[in-house]
Amino acid sequence: MKRVYIAETLVDGRMIVDLLHEEGIPALLFQQNGQGALGELPVTCPEVWIRRNSDFESAVCLIENFDAMIDPEAILFCEGCGENNPGNFEICWQCNQPLQGNDDSLTPEAVSFLHA
Ligand SMILES: [Zn+2]
Repeated sequence: MKRVYIAETLVDGRMIVDLLHEEGIPALLFQQNGQGALGELPVTCPEVWIRRNSDFESAVCLIENFDAMIDPEAILFCEGCGENNPGNFEICWQCNQPLQGNDDSLTPEAVSFLHA
């Protein structure tokens, strides 16, 4: 078990869990006033945990992309085809052309995941 995300809202937390499930990563959402499943104090924010620690890197990567997609400031436009790409994509999802100017586009939240 490993925590991969602290959501601001339950809706955000559920979206992350759904996202992970779609990618075949078993995940759990501990909600506000969490049920004490971990034998710890109730969490104050919804938290997303993955069951398998081996999924951690994949989960963090997915969440980074998810955060980038919902952050309009992080959108990159492909010079090749003009398609919108999440800000931390390195190549265009549409035409595979390298994207520019995305070296340090990780959000503070994503950075905190990587160092959690
Ligand atoms: Zn493109």
